[in-house]
Amino acid sequence: MNKEMKNQVDNLNNIRHSCAHLLAAAVLELWPGAKNAIGPSIEDGFYQDFDFGAVKISEADLPEIEKKMQELLQTWGSFATKEVSIEEAKKDFAWNQYKLELIEEFAKEGKTITENNPGNFLDLCKGGHSENPKEDLKYFKLLSVAGAYWRGSEKNKMLTRIYGTCFLSQKELDEHLAMLEEAKKRDHRKLGKELGLFVFSDLVGAGLPLLTAKGTTVRRVLERFVVDEEIKRGYQHVITPPLGKVDLYKVSGHYPYYKDTMYPSMKVDEDELILRPMTCPHHFMLYKSEPHSYKELPLRIAEISPQFRYEKSGELAGLMRVRMFTLSDAHIVCTKNQAKQVVKEVLDLIDYVNKTLGLKKGEDYRFRLSLGDRKDDKKYYKDDKAWDEAEKALREVLQEGNHEFFEAENEAAFYGPKIDIQVKNVLNKEETMITVQYDFVMPKRFELEYVDEKGEKKQPIVIHRSSIGAFERTIALLIEKYGGAFPVWLAPVQVVIIPITERNNEYAKKVMDELVGIRAEIDSRGETMQAKIRDAQMQKVPYMLIVGDREEKENKVAVRAREGVDMGAINMLEFLKIMREAFPAG
Ligand SMILES: [Zn+2]
Ligand SMILES: [Zn+2]
Repeated sequence: MNKEMKNQVDNLNNIRHSCAHLLAAAVLELWPGAKNAIGPSIEDGFYQDFDFGAVKISEADLPEIEKKMQELLQTWGSFATKEVSIEEAKKDFAWNQYKLELIEEFAKEGKTITENNPGNFLDLCKGGHSENPKEDLKYFKLLSVAGAYWRGSEKNKMLTRIYGTCFLSQKELDEHLAMLEEAKKRDHRKLGKELGLFVFSDLVGAGLPLLTAKGTTVRRVLERFVVDEEIKRGYQHVITPPLGKVDLYKVSGHYPYYKDTMYPSMKVDEDELILRPMTCPHHFMLYKSEPHSYKELPLRIAEISPQFRYEKSGELAGLMRVRMFTLSDAHIVCTKNQAKQVVKEVLDLIDYVNKTLGLKKGEDYRFRLSLGDRKDDKKYYKDDKAWDEAEKALREVLQEGNHEFFEAENEAAFYGPKIDIQVKNVLNKEETMITVQYDFVMPKRFELEYVDEKGEKKQPIVIHRSSIGAFERTIALLIEKYGGAFPVWLAPVQVVIIPITERNNEYAKKVMDELVGIRAEIDSRGETMQAKIRDAQMQKVPYMLIVGDREEKENKVAVRAREGVDMGAINMLEFLKIMREAFPAG
């Protein structure tokens, strides 16, 4: 980030944090018994926590609070801060136990305590405010109400958090609100339910989605596509068990680094078993099961691999963050000299997969080169020379392939640098969808070997990579990207045949029989044609084939696209051609 951009961000953060003060002032005026806790700026806005006592407030109260905020703002001057003694601060905030707790803490840490009073509203704060609140805070909006524990700890009292945002102009505010509105419509959790793709069950457990038949169809289509493509490109697909001995992860070195995200082990006979958080060690044991010659390298071992990682309950989100996911995983064993070519081919595969999914490079996703930190040997395996070589190799692949990319310090894996494929979600935020990692540590730990041209034993390196990411997360991203209207080849139901009257049911079946290899259904419910069309559109089914007496007589189907376009009556051969063209080539 350059300096000017940083100043702009700081400025906006100051304004948003100032707006949190204004929110506190308005709430305390409307509910004199309420106590404000903290009110920081966050990405895209701010929040303020309150203890409302016995009062319950909801989103219905937000317009009234906003009105009060606008009213108070007219009387607001500057945020000029004043340094005060601990005693003074304690006296001023004797009514507010949250501020008292903060004062005690600041005192213990030897921090100065400052107060501000921009409009007859005294608040305790360390500063970072708008210089001209009356102008700067005009364009705000309160967004939502949620519960939040004081200081984030479940042991403390649950407070009420009000979220809001503030921009420098009405236009920017409106654009942001429109984006939030669109994001709400496309939220994969909402659409997943409406389209019947997945459900959750309390009895099964949080973060463990159950894919319905429709959701499973989407997953199966993606899986078949990616497995076929990988086999075409020289990968060997294998299956290994989703659990293994704890010792396996001690050898790999994952155990100390990943302990907090692994599930507790279980004792089975004399062994300690654990659900696997990654596939690599299993693949290495497969590799080691027989000797290998340099002639076999690069050796590409792939698996559609279920993996288990502990995510805090507050961080679980639909299919985006789950406690078990299925990764299109692979480990490519190669020589150091082959590494660049191997990574290049992996990036080609990823670009191909993303293009097929309809993701545009530069617009929907971009590459990030994630680097280590030579000084941090707690987080990263110590071998400066190997790190230098690996980072150089990855950077060169990106440069030579004319891939646009950016670099991020301190984002590598503990065993080496990586290239992350960062995808923009519906809120314009980046999520890591896929990673490609250069590993010079595991081959050493697992004593992986190959025999070179001279008959000598050598140590290979390993490229860990995905191609389509974790299916759960990729499906979530695709649902949101397409607002549930999947491209034809991915749609769980591609065609609904709608007989106009019962008389046409027989003909509908005949049409169905001709749709070989197409996921089609007949809607023979006793509903009106209009109702059936509306339901199919709601389910985002790409095509509706309406068949009545006339179509039957002419041996045709009347085609409607889900967008509402009436394509007229055509014969089946023509329709099958439209369908064929909707599938990815190859
Ligand atoms: Zn402040
Ligand atoms: Zn791996």
